[in-house]
Amino acid sequence: MSAKPRPVPESLASPVKALFAGEVLEEALFPFPEPAPDEKETVTAFVGTFREFARDHIDSARIDREKAIPPEVVRGLADLGIFGIAVPEEYGGYSFSSSAYCRVMEEIGRTDASLGILVGGHQSIGLKALLLYGTPEQKSRWLPQLAAGEKIAAFALTEPEAGSDAASIRTTAQYEPADDSFVLEGSKHWISNGGIAGFFTVFAKDVALDANDEHRRITAFAVTRELPGLEVGPEEKKLGLRGSSTVPIHLKGVRVPSANVIGPRGSGFKIAVEVLNTGRTSLGAGCLGGSKAMIREAALHATQRRQFGTRIADFEMIRGKFARMVVNTYALESLVYMTSGLVDRGLSDYALEGAACKVFGTESVWNVINDALQVAGGNGFMEEYPYERALRDSRVNMIFEGTNEILRVLVALSGLREIGSDLEEVARALKTPLSNLGILSDYVGRKLRGYVARERIESVAPELAAEADLVTRYVRSFAAAAGTFLSRFGKNVLEREYQQERLASVAVDLYASLAVLSRATSSVRRNGPEKAAEEIRIARAFVQTAKYRIVGELKEMEKNRDRERAAARDGERSVIAESAYGGAGYRFDYW
Ligand SMILES: Cc1cc2nc3c(=O)[nH]c(=O)nc-3n(C[C@H](O)[C@H](O)[C@H](O)COP(=O)(O)OP(=O)(O)OC[C@H]3O[C@@H](n4cnc5c(N)ncnc54)[C@H](O)[C@@H]3O)c2cc1C
Repeated sequence: MSAKPRPVPESLASPVKALFAGEVLEEALFPFPEPAPDEKETVTAFVGTFREFARDHIDSARIDREKAIPPEVVRGLADLGIFGIAVPEEYGGYSFSSSAYCRVMEEIGRTDASLGILVGGHQSIGLKALLLYGTPEQKSRWLPQLAAGEKIAAFALTEPEAGSDAASIRTTAQYEPADDSFVLEGSKHWISNGGIAGFFTVFAKDVALDANDEHRRITAFAVTRELPGLEVGPEEKKLGLRGSSTVPIHLKGVRVPSANVIGPRGSGFKIAVEVLNTGRTSLGAGCLGGSKAMIREAALHATQRRQFGTRIADFEMIRGKFARMVVNTYALESLVYMTSGLVDRGLSDYALEGAACKVFGTESVWNVINDALQVAGGNGFMEEYPYERALRDSRVNMIFEGTNEILRVLVALSGLREIGSDLEEVARALKTPLSNLGILSDYVGRKLRGYVARERIESVAPELAAEADLVTRYVRSFAAAAGTFLSRFGKNVLEREYQQERLASVAVDLYASLAVLSRATSSVRRNGPEKAAEEIRIARAFVQTAKYRIVGELKEMEKNRDRERAAARDGERSVIAESAYGGAGYRFDYW
């Protein structure tokens, strides 16, 4: 056992990608990130001011009923500086770190979900391309107004025919050399903040570029509202997030100067993906705030409501729900602040960690709200209580900013790609074609990678050593399952979504377990095991429940009925699904 920290292999700096190779990047994951003391002070004060403002001016029931955030609230938020927290100080913003930004988004999520869209649609995605890829001139031109909330930003990628398959957008950009501009033609839909935005990041196909590569034709444009030909359609009628603006926008020969192109021409797809990848951690933070609000509400109810002469809080089935809500919310908090902390330490490739925050967070908050609503009984169903609104508001989280299905594909395939290059290396070294390699032995893989698998997590608190051993064991099983899957199916893994889903779910659970262990360990180190007893208990509970999910998924990776024969539609579930596709839907009416 060596206590000496090993260098983190550069290609595996992403802790989630590393899991696919059986590695726990202990140096990255331990100790749990701590906010810088001076920033903590600033952000705590900022959050306090926001809370006071929210208490006095934000009425979520009214926002939902009137389907709009009152203009005076938007102005008040602008005065607080909330529209510039992620914008550098030189452009009038607060330059908050990723972690601090998440802390504010958490507080907003705790307050009102529509507000989360207003602020997140503006900063997490609306102005992000400008921040990441804008020239100094572009930034000086727009960022000060955006940071001050004088202009609200929107991100316009989705079209009626192009949702998850964003590369298939049809909006075109035709370069006009005569006046060095582009003419945009097309329609976008479901654009958050679109009804009030003054600045749109619009993605369009640059028709002059390589027609054989759809991805490399997309270019990003800064489009301001006053440009002739930009038409904003009516507000959508939505299940939830009713206070947020969601509209179609039509680009009818909008002439955009080439000075408004964001990033290099043809790099729009990459930019869109990067913007979305960076925004997902903070979406998880919003879900975290929503979860905390629900737990508090339900706990107040459960401790006051009596049935059968007993507080309902004392019934085991109710306690079970609270335990689940608290444990999963602790895990989400650990994921969000682990990921944002890594970003603040310089991790640049965090697409999978962000996806994990989004997938875990959006599913966790949905389950928390469902549990909380159940605890509230009939009250939970009534509009005068916050549960039904929270349920409606939270549903879309699993759909936008990359659906959870697409994000599971992203996690699985990016992780596999990471080990795929190694597999090829192994095959080359052994002078064996990939298809003949069969199951890759862990050992050979690691030997060729030049480092040895970690048997134990040395930085974990002794109180959590058993759980840490369990996690490292499952990391190895997971990597073996991923390697087996890849070596057996090669590039055909692309078609095997049932397996991708399992891999991604396990990867998320493993990353969450590690984040939880790291956080509880920091609490033990800071406060001693007695004071940290509650967190130790929560961490153990999370790892133990994640274990059941992980074991189930890994078993099914090995033995399943995905495909009884080779064809894609031959598996049990696929055949059952097919029965619904003929037009009748469910075909097994009893009467
Ligand atoms: C309230 C709201 C606000 C939005 N705000 C914005 C915004 O500000 N800017 C913007 O550009 N867009 C926005 N969107 C659009 C959003 O990003 C898309 O809805 C999302 O990308 C999914 O696209 P889609 O709705 O067309 O669904 P589809 O892509 O048609 O997907 C339908 C279903 O099929 C599944 N599916 C698709 N492909 C696969 C696959 N390969 N494997 C497995 N399953 C798959 C999906 O996961 C989903 O369950 C918003 C949407 C909503 C509802």
